Amino acid sequence: MSCKRGLIIAIDGPAGAGKSTTARRVAERLGYLYIDTGAMYRAVTLAVLRAGIPIEEEHVARVLPHLRIELVPSLQGQRTLLSGEDVTEALRLPEVTRWVSLVSSFPAVRRFLVEEQRRLGRHGGVVMDGRDIGTVVFPEAEVKVFLTASLPVRARRRLQELRAYGIAITEQEVAAELQRRDELDSHRADSPLQCAPDAVVIDTTELTIEEQTERVLELVRQRLCNTRPESASSCAEPE
Ligand code: C5P
Repeated sequence: MSCKRGLIIAIDGPAGAGKSTTARRVAERLGYLYIDTGAMYRAVTLAVLRAGIPIEEEHVARVLPHLRIELVPSLQGQRTLLSGEDVTEALRLPEVTRWVSLVSSFPAVRRFLVEEQRRLGRHGGVVMDGRDIGTVVFPEAEVKVFLTASLPVRARRRLQELRAYGIAITEQEVAAELQRRDELDSHRADSPLQCAPDAVVIDTTELTIEEQTERVLELVRQRLCNTRPESASSCAEPE
């Protein structure tokens, strides 16, 4: 049996569906590079907030050429550097979360980051998570997954994450913020959050992280060995 190596694995879905944790674990198990594209959009947003400029596309576009965003693997997971400074924790600040969807809706920002994401993933052997990876960044990705989960479960997961970062917030506030961002991300004109027709949908509401990871790894095995996904539902199928 001939198996390929170095696939591009795209994991998209709304906030809190478990994309980052699943993507990171899949990458670890395969020895692939993990790229959290949400962190890149957050880093641009942080830079814009720090610069104190109006959050309008023409002003933001002027800042972009001066930004250097690096994703660095470490023992504590992926760290994000903004012009050399480790901003991993700062990217989770409520202020960044509040503005990130607006900043991400600007076509100039998307062009800038999509180009960088394509450069990072072009050799394959990569797991990339975001909102538009399977539709825009790598429509040719060999494995496409769309992770979903019910809103209460997503809110509870995000709450735990935020508390781990020392951010004081209630579950209701987190749920409202997730809904607001999903709405903005799904309805923007440029590369909205959408399930690619050839993506496999995994509802993680009732799944553990290990089960989610295993489901994605099973899709990878099937792809490497050229077999068809068993009992998987894709976005192209009617409900
Ligand atoms: O994944 P995370 O919640 O950190 O993403 C933060 C925000 O970045 C999203 O709500 C979305 O507005 C934006 N984003 C995007 N495209 C991506 C990844 C993230 O627009 N590929």
